[in-house]
Amino acid sequence: MDGNAGSSGSRRGESKRALKQRLESLASAGVTSLPKRSGAKPRPAVGSRDTGLTGASAAAATQPPVVGVRARIRKLDILREEVASCRMCKPLAEARTHTVFGAGSATARLCFLGEAPGADEDASGEPFVGRAGQLLTKIIESCTLSREEVYILNVLKCRPPDNRRPQPDETANCRGYFEKQLEIIAPEFICCLGTTAAQALLQTDETIGNLRKRWFTWKSSQVICTYHPSYLLRNPPAKRDVWEDMKLLMAKLGVQL
Ligand code: URA
Repeated sequence: MDGNAGSSGSRRGESKRALKQRLESLASAGVTSLPKRSGAKPRPAVGSRDTGLTGASAAAATQPPVVGVRARIRKLDILREEVASCRMCKPLAEARTHTVFGAGSATARLCFLGEAPGADEDASGEPFVGRAGQLLTKIIESCTLSREEVYILNVLKCRPPDNRRPQPDETANCRGYFEKQLEIIAPEFICCLGTTAAQALLQTDETIGNLRKRWFTWKSSQVICTYHPSYLLRNPPAKRDVWEDMKLLMAKLGVQL
C-alpha cells in the first residue's frame, strides 16, 4: 500500500471513529433521533448576537445589530467583582474557594440558569464544569450550539455545603446578582435547569414537572424549564424529556435540529 492510500485509509478510520464518538455523545445527551440531511448547508449563527464570536451569517445579518456589547461586558465585569467580594451569606462565603459568576457570551440569545456551584465549580470558579456540567455541554452541543455562544449562570454564586439545596435566604441574597446578570445580557430565551432555578426565576412553588413544556415571560425573555443535568445523571431515562424540551426551545430559536 502506498503512503497516500495508507493515509487516506487511516483518515477514513479516524472519521469513522469521530462519527462513532459523536453518535455516542448525542445518545448520552438523550438525543433519540436525527433528521435526514439532503445536503450540507452552513448553519446560521443563532446562539449569540455577537457576530464577532460566531462569524457573519445569513441569520446574523437579518438580526438587528447588537448595540453596547462593550458596555455589557463592562457591566458584567463590575458585577463579577461585586459578587467576588460578597459576604451576605457568611457561612458560604467563609467556606468558598471561588465565587462562580457565570460564563459565555454577553450577547447570548440563550442563557441557561442552574442552581449553585458544586465542588468542581467552587475549585475552578467556572459554572457547570463537573459531571453535570459535562452533560450540559453535551446537551448544548447536541443542539448544535457551543458553550461560548450561550451564557451559563447559577442562582447561587457560592457552593452550599455538601451540595445541599439553596435556602430561601441564600436565594434572596443572590437574587440581585442573577437578575442583574440576566438584565444586562437581556437574552431572548432563558432555560431554567431544575426546580431551584425555575422556582427562583419565576417566583413560584410549582414543581418542575408542572413547569415543563410551558412558556413563561421574564422581563423581555421567554422562559422554558427542564430537568437539571444532575437529575439526569441519577435518572438517565429523563434525558428523552430534556431532548423534547430542547427541541421546543431550538424551534423558537430558529435552530434546525
Ligand atoms: N450544578 C449547578 O446547578 N450549577 C453548576 O454550576 C454545577 C452543578
